[in-house]
Amino acid sequence: LIELRGVNKHYGALHVLKDIDLTVGRGEVVVVIGPSGSGKSTLCRTINRLETVESGTITLAGQPLPAEGKELARLRTEVGMVFQSFNLFAHKTVLANVMLAPLKVRGKNRDEAERRARELLERVGLADQAEKYPAQLSGGQQQRVAIARALAMDPQALLFDEPTSALDPEMISEVLEVMQQLAQDGMTMVVVTHEMGFARSAANRVVFMADGQIVEDRTPEEFFTAPESDRAKDFLSKIL
Ligand code: ATP
Ligand code: MG
Repeated sequence: LIELRGVNKHYGALHVLKDIDLTVGRGEVVVVIGPSGSGKSTLCRTINRLETVESGTITLAGQPLPAEGKELARLRTEVGMVFQSFNLFAHKTVLANVMLAPLKVRGKNRDEAERRARELLERVGLADQAEKYPAQLSGGQQQRVAIARALAMDPQALLFDEPTSALDPEMISEVLEVMQQLAQDGMTMVVVTHEMGFARSAANRVVFMADGQIVEDRTPEEFFTAPESDRAKDFLSKIL
């Protein structure tokens, strides 16, 4: 579904993505891990060309992503993003937040958008919070709203960049449970996370990045029990 071939990117003199090859099949869950500064967030943003790249190709469902223009904007809506900071609109209700993009971008009618938004809020366990404002919710609830909002565009894939890193420990599991359920339902997902339990239980593959390179790309079982590279061994010894 998502394919990167020979992708390179610099920030000035810093080579942040080095010859990245990555394939994410439909329904696959790929967890990306690696030390701080290794390029995980840049990789995420590159997948829907929120970052420009110097070389390489990015394709979505067999279609190359153009560098700019209307077609890029359309293809971008096929890949939802969930960030560490939830970025909800503070002056809109939870329901309005989830309805917004389908109304504005997809041109859905109000009844249809509302019906779908309520369905998605139900799915993330927040059916009873629809009329509240983001500030009235806990961090874990806000992040679940952000997931519902991403799903409202009916994307072909979802990218998560450290979705639980800003949350208090007791709220992490409620967000991971929603993500786990999405994975089970067959959603294609790329997830940057430090939650190794999630990687073990939900990922089809673990991609380990270091210094802008993909150093390992293997099943969680292989990766956690027998990492090949010294970088991965070192990383795992620090976090496990
Ligand atoms: P973390 O685990 O801390 O989130 P990361 O793996 O997501 O790290 P990136 O955010 O992708 O790493 O950053 C990769 C490198 O690129 C880092 O050295 C970072 O300082 C640098 N970088 C990121 N964004 C920019 C930018 N807009 N301009 C210049 N350098 C940047
Ligand atoms: Mg990051």
